[in-house]
Amino acid sequence: MSRIVYLNGEYLPEAEAKVSIFDRGFLMADGVYEVTSVLDGKLVDFDGHAKRLQRSLGELDMASPVTMDELLEIHRELLRRNDVVEGMVYLQITRGAPADRDFVFPNPEETPSTIVLFTQNKPGLADNPAAKRGIKVISIDDLRWHRRDIKTVQLLYPSMGKMMAKAAGCDDAWLVEDGHVTEGTSNNAYIVKGGRIITRDLSTDILHGITRAAVLRFAREAQMEVEERPFTIEEAQQADEAFITSASTFVMPVVEIDGATIGAGTPGPVATRLREIYLEESRKAAI
Ligand code: PMP
Repeated sequence: MSRIVYLNGEYLPEAEAKVSIFDRGFLMADGVYEVTSVLDGKLVDFDGHAKRLQRSLGELDMASPVTMDELLEIHRELLRRNDVVEGMVYLQITRGAPADRDFVFPNPEETPSTIVLFTQNKPGLADNPAAKRGIKVISIDDLRWHRRDIKTVQLLYPSMGKMMAKAAGCDDAWLVEDGHVTEGTSNNAYIVKGGRIITRDLSTDILHGITRAAVLRFAREAQMEVEERPFTIEEAQQADEAFITSASTFVMPVVEIDGATIGAGTPGPVATRLREIYLEESRKAAI
């Protein structure tokens, strides 16, 4: 499959899209990204992702090379050109490619940001069989930097976490700091106890998930109780249910944590219901 991708104002076949070796995204992970899911050929929660992107850029003092309206148009054009019905759009903006490697930020007037977007075609994303059986997670120390609220491309440790999970015969890892779960390697983490949904409160310790915001809103609208506070692995192991959320997994039940079975070892009613509501409402609101 050869995709048409977007690079700095041009739509190109993927093999022709080239970025400089001096790009700060490549040399220093000096870049931010977003992943927006696609259902029925439409973008899920585009506004949420665009707003978080602007916030990430602002926190890093990085210029956006496009307006948010232009960004929407680029997303839509890529979906059209690549015939994506279900999948994702990946977007990355870096501080661009200065003339040489230097720790000091380049002057944005001389060094424009680099912007790249590409699609990922994933038929069956919503009908993921993993959602019917649930996933298994391990816990590992959270060794990431302390501005996890900024969605940067520094993904080495999350990537190592996924490898540790794989080596342990599991699907993902939950990160633990000061005895409490922060989040998953690429998702937000939740438990359910006595019908209450518990998830860590927002701070610089975690990424402010766009799916998290939507799921908590739907949960409250459905009269479910939500408590935003940190929890431990021990509390999670004794919970009735556990689950994760992210743009690419939506709501995904967790049935095992560090070898302990959660609830009946199958996806619980709260996670299952939230996944249904999320998919239904997201399809309705997608643009
Ligand atoms: N936390 C982390 C560390 C993530 O990488 C992600 C997904 N990018 C999330 C949470 C979930 O965010 P979202 O719902 O916006 O995909």
